[in-house]
Parts: sequence; structure tokens; C-alpha cells
Amino acid sequence: VINFAAGPAKLPEEVLRDVQKNLLDCNGSGISVMEMSHRSSNYAKIQETAIADLRALLNIPSNYKVLLMQGGGTGQFAAVAFNLIGRSGSADYVITGSWSSKAAKEAAQYGKVNAVLPKVSKYVEVPRQSTWQTDPKASYIYYCDNETVEGVEFDFVPVPPTGVPLVCDMSSNFLSRPIDVTKFGVIFAGAQKNIGPAGTTVIIVRDDLIGQHLKTTPSILNFELMDKNSSLLNTPPTFGIYVMGLVFQWIKRNGGIEGMAERSRAKSQLIYNIIDQSNGFYYCPVERNVRSRMNVPFRIGSATGNDALEKEFLAKAEAEGMIQLKGHRSVGGIRASLYNAITLPETQQLAKLMLAFYENNKN
Ligand code: PLP
Repeated sequence: VINFAAGPAKLPEEVLRDVQKNLLDCNGSGISVMEMSHRSSNYAKIQETAIADLRALLNIPSNYKVLLMQGGGTGQFAAVAFNLIGRSGSADYVITGSWSSKAAKEAAQYGKVNAVLPKVSKYVEVPRQSTWQTDPKASYIYYCDNETVEGVEFDFVPVPPTGVPLVCDMSSNFLSRPIDVTKFGVIFAGAQKNIGPAGTTVIIVRDDLIGQHLKTTPSILNFELMDKNSSLLNTPPTFGIYVMGLVFQWIKRNGGIEGMAERSRAKSQLIYNIIDQSNGFYYCPVERNVRSRMNVPFRIGSATGNDALEKEFLAKAEAEGMIQLKGHRSVGGIRASLYNAITLPETQQLAKLMLAFYENNKN
């Protein structure tokens, strides 16, 4: 089976085999990682190694903290506001898709949210920064680097007004291309797409932004408390962190972030080329410069999709072992998610099916 799910998504087979091999006896402890005290030295080594590997992969400077928290991306929609919006009481949100829209709604419960872009009916582009209505007094400016539902991925890193920290949701393209961490105040990512199982969230936060939280901040969303307790304020998702650590090591063995970026480019290009060369049989609504390398959404038969053809395509894909290709219920059609663990040969299988389906059904 080839799993093109948008998340929880495919994990590298090598990692899963490693998990299986060590399931009953983790690192010679005689027990499973799931049964290990989060205060034990055995577990400490797992968590510390995972964080050190992440620091090395992304070249994270020493004035940035890495926190491991629970609550997923959605938890961070609240956490970001709780921890930062009190700086001035308002924050700028760049809404380019469903997830940044949800984040803005969540933050609006805790402070004033200013949408820097006019409201749109469909998310298919990232307006250039010169058109944004930003507020130089904002507590932070927030964006989502890759909108998983619509397949819209930033092709630039925004430059915030002086003194305004940049906050980014990288849940669905984390560790898929190099980033300059110093350009950000906060980066967060839920694990279940590119780096591990659901349940763990990675937060990279510049240390001067820690300690500015609202008084009402729940402890488990509080960056300062999490940092002071080395992400062990309460019981962390130990199994998830263990698997995530194995994924970091897998990335290191496979060319690091540059290797992931190269794979992503090759995989997504293959699928977009077929879409573009199909004379409109396959249709991707997203503007070319911001087409996601991670989530490729497309319709079949017309720009609004031919229901019968799309159903047939999904059935054919499933018959060939290619699963979870259905588009998000809010946009319909097909969505091929090509996260780090998806290989080029697996993507070529999908490409082959798309070409054959086009040949059989074009008019
Ligand atoms: N942000 C992005 C970009 C996502 O794709 C998702 C989930 O798909 C979320 C946030 C929400 O994550 P969670 O379900 O972990 O709360």
C-alpha cells in the first residue's frame, strides 16, 4: 500500500521497522518505551537526543529554545496567543487558507486580531507582502507556511516590521526545506505529517519571547513553564517523541534537510507536470508560484471536477494500493500528500496511474 494521506501520514518504513524491533525492549531497558518513566535516565536520553538532532538539522541558534508540547497545531493556535498577544494586545494574521483562518479565530478569543489581507472566497494564492496591511505595533505577525487543505505554500519568508516577531505554523512542511531560524520568533509544527505520530508538537521559540504570557495561560500551554521544566512539566507523549527522534535520525541519514528538499521538489514537480500537460483534464486551482510541494490538490475532468471521473480515479488508485487520496471535504477532488516519507518511486506509481487515466478518459 502507498499511503498518500494528508496526516496522520506515512512514516519511513525503516523507522517503523526500528520501532517494531525495539518494541518490547527499548535500548536494552527490558521494557517498551511506552512503559518507561518520563523521569528515567533512559527516557531523558531519548528526548535529549531528539532535541539535539533537531537542533543540528535546522542549525538552531543557542538563543532559541526547543519545546515539545501536546495539543497539536490547534493547541498552538491558542498557545501562540496566550504567550505573545499580551505584548501589545493585538496581532497580525496573514490568512492564506483554512489553518491560518482557524488560528486567527482562536487568537481572537484572547486579543485583537488584525487580518492583513482582504477576505477571499477561495484560497489559491499568497498576495505579495507589499500589499499587506500590517500594524507596526502588532504583538506578532502570524502565517502558515503550508496550507495543507488548499495546497498553498509560501515561496518567501515574510519580513515583519521592525521589532515584530514572525510566528509560523510549519505543521505540514516542517523539515522539508532549509529555513533560516533567525528570521522567526516562533515556529511550531504538529508531528503527524512530516516528523512522527500525532500527539507531539515541536515549538522553536526565541528566548526573549518567553515569559510574556497572559496571566490566564494554562500551564501546559505556557512556554516559560515548559522551558523551565525542559518540556517535562507533565507527562509528555513519550512514544511519539521516541518515534520522532528516530525520524530525525532517518532524515540525517537521507541527506538532511537538503536531501528532503531535493526529494520534495522532484516528487511534486512530477505530479504538477502531469497536471499542466493534461490540457485541463487535471486541474490545480493554486497559483503556480505557491503550489505546495507537500499537498497537491487537483480536480479531474474540469475546474470544478467531474464527480464520476473523480470517484473512478480514487477507486482505480485504491485497487492499485494507493490510498487516502481523497481531497479535503471542504475543497473536494483529489489531494496527493507527498511528505518526506513518500519516496520518488511511490510518486512515480501515482504519476503512472494519472497518465493512464488521462489516456483512457480524455476526449
Ligand atoms: N496547521 C496545519 C498546517 C495543519 O495541517 C493542521 C492539521 O492538519 C493543523 C495546524 C492542526 O493540527 P492538529 O490537528 O494537530 O491540531
